[in-house]
Amino acid sequence: MVAPAVRLVGKTHEFSLRSFHEPPALQLLKAIGLRPFPLFCYFYLFKAMQIVKNEILQLINKPLWMRDELATLLMLRGNGQEALLARAEDCLLAHRGDQVFYRGLVEFSNICTKDCLYCGIRKSNKNVERYELSHDAIVEAARYAWNHDYGSLVLQSGERCNPAFANKIDHILRDIRQITRGELGITLSVGEQSRDTYQRWFNSGAHRYLLRIETSNKELYGQLHPHNEAHNFGKRIQCLKDLQSIGYQTGTGVMIGLPGQSALHLADDLLFMKQFDIDMVGMGPYIEHQETPLFTHKTELWPLQERFLTALNMIALLRLMMPEINIAATTAMQTIDPLGREKALRAGANIIMPNITPSNFRKSYLLYNNKPNIDEEADECSDCLSLRLSLAGRRLGSNQWGDSPHYFKRTQEKGL
Ligand code: SAM
Ligand code: SF4
Repeated sequence: MVAPAVRLVGKTHEFSLRSFHEPPALQLLKAIGLRPFPLFCYFYLFKAMQIVKNEILQLINKPLWMRDELATLLMLRGNGQEALLARAEDCLLAHRGDQVFYRGLVEFSNICTKDCLYCGIRKSNKNVERYELSHDAIVEAARYAWNHDYGSLVLQSGERCNPAFANKIDHILRDIRQITRGELGITLSVGEQSRDTYQRWFNSGAHRYLLRIETSNKELYGQLHPHNEAHNFGKRIQCLKDLQSIGYQTGTGVMIGLPGQSALHLADDLLFMKQFDIDMVGMGPYIEHQETPLFTHKTELWPLQERFLTALNMIALLRLMMPEINIAATTAMQTIDPLGREKALRAGANIIMPNITPSNFRKSYLLYNNKPNIDEEADECSDCLSLRLSLAGRRLGSNQWGDSPHYFKRTQEKGL
């Protein structure tokens, strides 16, 4: 095993975690018009503001970062941030080139047995019209992606863990493989499943799996999920390990700007992804949904723009820490800033997931408020995407899987 390029320093928080109740000091800061960051973010925000140009460059150019250095870098704004993003873009171009790879995203069902406190399609939200695309409709969407040279497909849904669901996915995978002559890459993102099910789907043609850890901090995870067996942090970690050991290109990610989350949590998230030797990452800002329990904490959230800017820094730092992985420019980035995905590409991302879900279902897959492109047909979406890519100075890696070289090195080193 190669020694990690980033030192992993004490994972335990030396500060106690901020609870969901606002401390009086924070209320005071907000009352005088300061940004409603958690208190520890102010510490790193002030630290980031104090360092002068030379020191910023020295810090950005360090090969290894301690967690408090990462927390400071995450709070860079203005010129300091521009320097960080530029270095990450150089790193991306040097290690992965200027190609961007498409993964056609099919949100094939919003039926979910779980109740994550932040998610708009959680089981207990009764104001969602539930749907599930038929086998044929999903295979048709795969054919569309293949015909349009997307290279890969992502099948995403709410989480269900039962034999009928496992069988359905299995048959779909086999049919897609047959129809596209095995040429279309397939990523699954359907939550926590048994090792046997993951193995079965792998055998049937899925070769990438995206399972976000959401936050690598167990205590914060507990504040974002109901306390029961279905929402167990340890189980989620075990699923990621199972996926890696089966041989999937394994992806994870976190939400940025969650209530109760600090810059130190995010620094730990970066170290977690590095330590876990992850192959691909999809992360983006947390955006509130009015029909979720977490919405009651909306007054404690960082301003949307701060969540967005911090997400850019997360992408840039992860690119510098893991130059050869795949990093997605997520839809949540575009929700906050119309050019959000392009800005994410300039910060080190190299994957875009155009939504190819039939448009009449998109309005029912609302994870958060103001999700974009819910009325557009797939064709319109891909046209505007191509234009946007060229404006960002990138080329489309047409009809390619765009695998992460990191995956091949990892599996070779571990003899998988
Ligand atoms: N059900 C599967 C799972 O949870 O892994 C896959 C689908 S789930 C909708 C995909 C991702 O949406 C989650 O991992 C979560 O990070 C993200 N998500 C859910 N609610 C969100 C919100 N309010 N803001 C931003 N991202 C959100
Ligand atoms: Fe279901 Fe995934 Fe949403 Fe959680 S995040 S409620 S598992 S769809």
